[in-house]
Amino acid sequence: MTGRAETFRNYINGRWIGARSGAVMESVNPATGEVLGLVPKSGPEDVDDAVRAAAAAFASWRKTPAPRRAEILFRVAERLVTHKEDLARLMTQEMGKVLTEARGDVQEAIDMSYFIAGEGRRLHGYTAPSEMPHKAAYCVRSPLGVVGIITPWNFPMAIPSWKIVPALVCGNTVVFKPASYTPLVALRFVQIFEEVGLPPGVLNIVTGPGSEVGDSLVEHPQVRVVSFTGSTETGLRLAEKCARAGKRISLEMGGKNAAIVMPDADLGLATDALTWSAFGTTGQRCTACSRIIVHRAVKPDLTERLVDRARQLRLGDGLRSNTDVGPVVSDAQLERIHRYVEIGQREGARLLTGGTRMREGELARGSFYAPTVFDGVRPEMRIAQEEIFGPVTDVIEADSFDAAVTVLNQSRYGLSASIFTRDINAAMQAIDDLDTGIVYVNHGTIGAEVHLPFGGTKETGNGHREGGLQVLDVFSEWKSVYVDYSGRLQRAQIDRE
Ligand code: NAP
Repeated sequence: MTGRAETFRNYINGRWIGARSGAVMESVNPATGEVLGLVPKSGPEDVDDAVRAAAAAFASWRKTPAPRRAEILFRVAERLVTHKEDLARLMTQEMGKVLTEARGDVQEAIDMSYFIAGEGRRLHGYTAPSEMPHKAAYCVRSPLGVVGIITPWNFPMAIPSWKIVPALVCGNTVVFKPASYTPLVALRFVQIFEEVGLPPGVLNIVTGPGSEVGDSLVEHPQVRVVSFTGSTETGLRLAEKCARAGKRISLEMGGKNAAIVMPDADLGLATDALTWSAFGTTGQRCTACSRIIVHRAVKPDLTERLVDRARQLRLGDGLRSNTDVGPVVSDAQLERIHRYVEIGQREGARLLTGGTRMREGELARGSFYAPTVFDGVRPEMRIAQEEIFGPVTDVIEADSFDAAVTVLNQSRYGLSASIFTRDINAAMQAIDDLDTGIVYVNHGTIGAEVHLPFGGTKETGNGHREGGLQVLDVFSEWKSVYVDYSGRLQRAQIDRE
């Protein structure tokens, strides 16, 4: 997708249509500044159209047997396989991550689609013995209705797939509002469902600003469940709205992930893994490692290796095969990152490398920020507490295992944590004591797989999990069924003889 910018449309009730207002907004390549396309800048009236279409489609979709729903989702997986390369290229152009990572993002959507489509033939409930004779008791999952899905830009296909595919297999219909930085990937993803024969109205997409489209989606009375991934600030605001309306909301929010490096760690492995965790996806992963808590005994060695590696990373357009780190998603995000670097310096942290915008040659056209390592960081500093969401990591010294665990847990967030050690006791104690939804041993903080629950503690989430079978609980309601075939009145708890 290069050259003259094409205009794209929302997908509502099986038709591709523009915003009622006719307004559009741009999708821009952060590596080059090129406008990739124009998409609808929709408003509440478009959301209303989409929700009404989804509500109407629910009547027949919920009655479509789950294995049949799943057959369509298997076809989605197959089509994603066929289009993996063009989807990945579009993703790299639209949000900047390097092509190998973009392929991984599409692969995650493929994995999720195969995994969850398989659930169409399970969606297990259970039977239980009744306390009465001649009475059957069991429970089944029921769909809820229209689901509103709001997603960020950093995993523009994987994250929507974690939500859309399970919502559909459970029998719900969906209105999807993607991030405004990545509408083209989202529109293409939805088109794949159309191409494999998903009935009109079952999945709808409305692009536009979060403050208008997202808000009106959450507030729409016919939306029964909201699934949101994004910042804690936005997520908690939406949770308030949902609480007032008695709606379910599943929240996947911010992180301030950390790794502990013990004196017996394999420092080569730790350096590889932490370089990848801190600077992969340009540090714009919810699980990115932004705190490295290292034992005093190995701190000088590990820090030197990390700085060395950070300096070797090649920045550039993610479509180039020799690029290690792409741009950050926008200039606004770049400025936010740089403000944090200045805050860190004012707080007294030592900048070992990075801390600058990159403007040499081709980099001048895009939003590039040098991989940045801070030393001398104290756990209470803002750069150690607040999510920066960019290629910036902090080295924090600890003098014991217990001190390291305390520092790691000293965070409002609780998404992902890791420990590097060869001591099985330390590893197992860390698994017990780290207050996060995901723990890695001898691995960085990134790299979740779709068939395990994904999510975090504290202000990272609100108790729900995506991924794994647990995601089905977000998108279904339990229905308990009693079938009395005794032919007489049997009163539970009362007729005991
Ligand atoms: P964001 O600003 O909160 O936006 C997320 C989504 O919410 C976007 O679609 C956005 O739309 C929409 N939105 C913004 N304001 C809204 C409002 N008032 N009402 C309804 N929707 C609204 O977050 P982001 O900058 O895109 O993403 C980065 C954040 O996501 C980081 O905090 C990161 O940790 C988190 N994240 C978490 C996970 C996880 O699983 N825990 C995974 C990935 C990312 P617009 O794009 O139009 O503004």
